Amino acid sequence: MSEMKFAGIMKQSLVDYPGKVAAVLFTRGCNFCCPFCHNAHLVIKPHNPPPALEMQEILTFLRKHSGFLDAVVVSGGEPTLYPGLPEAFREFKALGYFTKIDTNGTNPTMLKQMLDEGLLDYVAMDVKAPLEFKKYANTVGSLTSGEFFNVRNSINLLRQVTVRAEFRTTVVPSLHSEDDIVEIARYLKGSKIYTLQQFNPSVTLDAGFGNVIPYSRDQMQEIAQRCREYIEEIKTVNL
Ligand code: SF4
Repeated sequence: MSEMKFAGIMKQSLVDYPGKVAAVLFTRGCNFCCPFCHNAHLVIKPHNPPPALEMQEILTFLRKHSGFLDAVVVSGGEPTLYPGLPEAFREFKALGYFTKIDTNGTNPTMLKQMLDEGLLDYVAMDVKAPLEFKKYANTVGSLTSGEFFNVRNSINLLRQVTVRAEFRTTVVPSLHSEDDIVEIARYLKGSKIYTLQQFNPSVTLDAGFGNVIPYSRDQMQEIAQRCREYIEEIKTVNL
């Protein structure tokens, strides 16, 4: 059995895997430090972390609810930091679940291994900024050249897969101009799905970002419309 441990579980979600009822598992820790991160509690090392959820516990839950749940989504933090992740997905697949991962794209080797093995039905990758090192580093807080190379490799990998692959950007006015988002869409040209997520200032890793006013719904729609020149399906997710 995989030795994966999870930081939390949402037992039922209707929005994390479109068209399916999913359980969402969260991993702790991230190699990025995005100031706008909405999952700060998973990124910052807590003084007294709650007890981790063991695989045994997760599998018991998934077996019990297999008649009701369709899918397992693993989100973070950054799940691919855990070497035991592929084994955990083997176990979800053995129970007959559809699977999805949310990732920042810094581990294309693990993604490829999991895709080649048929362990992933759906990959959602964050693209944080236009693909220029300085802009990307500024947006994610901390970035090595190796991580940047890996992000670009993951994009190339996901462009070619047959499973559902979605790119996403949280649009933060103090970090992204409208042209920046269109620039990302141009880079992703030919991809099937690009989702623009309206920034949510209610919880942020950097408290200063709590004062940033999100783009309005109309502005988000305008940006989305400009991106449609490059990508088949542009979705916007508003607060
Ligand atoms: S937004 Fe995602 S990639 Fe950025 S710090 Fe939070 S969990 Fe990590």
